Amino acid sequence: MESTVAGMHEDRLLLGPGPSEPYPEAMEALARPVLGHLDPEYLAVIREIREQLQQVFRTGNELTLPVSGTGSSGMEACLASLLEVGDTIIVGVNGYFGERLCEVARRGGAEVVRVEAPWGTPIDPADLVAAQQANPQAAVLAVVAAETSTGVRNDVAPIGPALAQTDTLLLVDAVTALGGTQLEVDAWQIDASYSASQKCLGAPPGLAPVTLGPRAVARMKARKTPVRSFYLDLGLLHEYFLASPPTYHHTASSTLAYSLHAGLGRLLEEGVEQVWARHDRIGRLLQSALPELGFGLIAPESHRLPQLTATTLPNGLDEGSLRKRLLAEYGIEVGGGLGDFAGRAWRIGLMGHAATERSVVTLLGAVRELLA
Ligand SMILES: *Cc1c(COP(=O)(O)O)cnc(C)c1O
Repeated sequence: MESTVAGMHEDRLLLGPGPSEPYPEAMEALARPVLGHLDPEYLAVIREIREQLQQVFRTGNELTLPVSGTGSSGMEACLASLLEVGDTIIVGVNGYFGERLCEVARRGGAEVVRVEAPWGTPIDPADLVAAQQANPQAAVLAVVAAETSTGVRNDVAPIGPALAQTDTLLLVDAVTALGGTQLEVDAWQIDASYSASQKCLGAPPGLAPVTLGPRAVARMKARKTPVRSFYLDLGLLHEYFLASPPTYHHTASSTLAYSLHAGLGRLLEEGVEQVWARHDRIGRLLQSALPELGFGLIAPESHRLPQLTATTLPNGLDEGSLRKRLLAEYGIEVGGGLGDFAGRAWRIGLMGHAATERSVVTLLGAVRELLA
């Protein structure tokens, strides 16, 4: 277990904030022969992935596709495609990924209006709606559904209806939410959303599912300036996947597409609501056991995510050295705290294939031994 020599097969249990344990089907699919990015078979897989993602995002949006790259590429693709230089974006910030949304938008030339809540607490959706009323010119309002840095769930459902009669689009970061906890793109009137293959969807990292609704597509079509990123232009990507005959945009990976397809297939076989229920049950199992060991739960119960638990360590323990021993001696990965919680917290992910009793029992057993 100590060697890090290339070629050694490390046996890990991935219980951090991502990547999570992929489903075996998603790993087996990686061994399929490579297809060209214009091969009709590859494009057929993409079309099936679109149908699968529509079910997981709970949407009929035609523009639903996997963007090449990790979750951050989905974030960049949405911001680059929906914003023009000088546009205003309102961003809910109560953790690391809200901060990243601000940073990416700012680099793209947008004016950022921040709506903040302290790390570890949820954003009040009424504050976001009030910010929109104060900035009715805002092109986009963005919020992170599941803040992976703190384990906090932000309420998304009330926002969409409040924006529906305005010109402000609702963009939701669903990187850790999708396939883990309830997310309803159509019913909640979400205009755009992005996720990642390696959190609750049960595939390895490398693809970012994105969906855009009719208002977002219309916004893209009405742009006065071209999207500044060629690679992440969602209009061009949509054309690439749809055009007949297909035309080259970039060399999209059939290998990762097969893998995501297999992971989503496994998820849908279980059922979207059943997968939410499993994450809920397994997350609560861990969260009910941690306080007995002296760990504290950072997120308030009403807004505590099941798939990501941010937890403070028992008094006097050094999180970094304990976390390193967990990895070195037991092969179990958990994440360290970020931002306000750096140096004093862990982030434990129970996502996708790792959302099982076995993960919880294994982790708690190892932690008990380390504390003894
Ligand atoms: C992980 C994560 C991201 C970034 O995804 P990468 O795959 O690391 O690029 C964005 N938002 C949230 C909420 C995340 O958890």
